[in-house]
Amino acid sequence: MTPAELHDSAILWDAHSCVPLHPDFDLAALERHRRAGADFVSINVGMDMNPLDQILPVIASFREQIERRSDFLRFASTAGEVRRAKREGKLAVAFDLEGGVPLCGRPEMVRLFFDLGVRQIHLAYNRNNELGGGCYDEDVPLTALGRRIVEAVYRAGMLMDLSHTGHRTSLDIMAMGLGPVVFSHANPRAIRDDRRNLTEAQIEGCARTGGVVCVTGVGRFLADPEARSPAILDCIDHLVARIGPEHVGISLDYEYPGGGLRDLPEDVDRTYWWPPEEGYRDGISGIRLATPEQLPEITEGLLARGYGEAEIRRILGENMLDLVRRIRG
Ligand SMILES: [Zn+2]
Repeated sequence: MTPAELHDSAILWDAHSCVPLHPDFDLAALERHRRAGADFVSINVGMDMNPLDQILPVIASFREQIERRSDFLRFASTAGEVRRAKREGKLAVAFDLEGGVPLCGRPEMVRLFFDLGVRQIHLAYNRNNELGGGCYDEDVPLTALGRRIVEAVYRAGMLMDLSHTGHRTSLDIMAMGLGPVVFSHANPRAIRDDRRNLTEAQIEGCARTGGVVCVTGVGRFLADPEARSPAILDCIDHLVARIGPEHVGISLDYEYPGGGLRDLPEDVDRTYWWPPEEGYRDGISGIRLATPEQLPEITEGLLARGYGEAEIRRILGENMLDLVRRIRG
């Protein structure tokens, strides 16, 4: 089988990418994902700093656009739905929330967001909130309210994502033993020392829950700030050596250009969410990102590094399909 045949026939699951959080953004841009061979992409519809009167119109617009562009997009979140979308040549899309602040402190909001299309959530975005710790803040435990939210996440069949979450809070969530967790976009700290990246305790803990660590293509979190494909492959190698190919996945965390659409609230303090003392300059601007067009290089690179076909299929998407099947059928 040629690299291209393997790439085309495998289910390719991008566990997290971003479009501008603006209802006027045209999701036709996601054609780039499909052309690069992606079969599923989880797109962000809000973070802890985005108010509900921004998040809800974004969700409404994206749902409407996915329906209108049924020629190439399909809302899909079960393993069967994603496979069907691939057979029909469509890109499967579901939503994720980066942080639990939009839940307004109410566990029942998890189910409401599920009904709106959110299938993956983390509790905190970089900073601590009433649910637990963010990765660039004081390392605090999961709170009592956070525990109730985590229970609601599993009850709803949403993926419990620990990206951007504080170290102690992430271990507390895993210790609850409710099921598999996912790091939808994070890399090993051993490869690139950044508090957004993962310690070996987090990596091994995730695997013990039956979960998946999806490497991210953000240059800041790779050994290569230019976000070239070999650096992504190095992260995959590290994870496979530690926890095996059955616990490794892929996300690009690519951010589609906004074309002038403003998607951060006017009063947001970028230095709070992306602290200069952690090495950020002007928030996340200027950080290089791996592009959807690099996806075929990942498949080629895995083959060149000696991975077997079955292992590659797992890493590209079958591991996430299995995880979803266990969580929600
Ligand atoms: Zn993120």
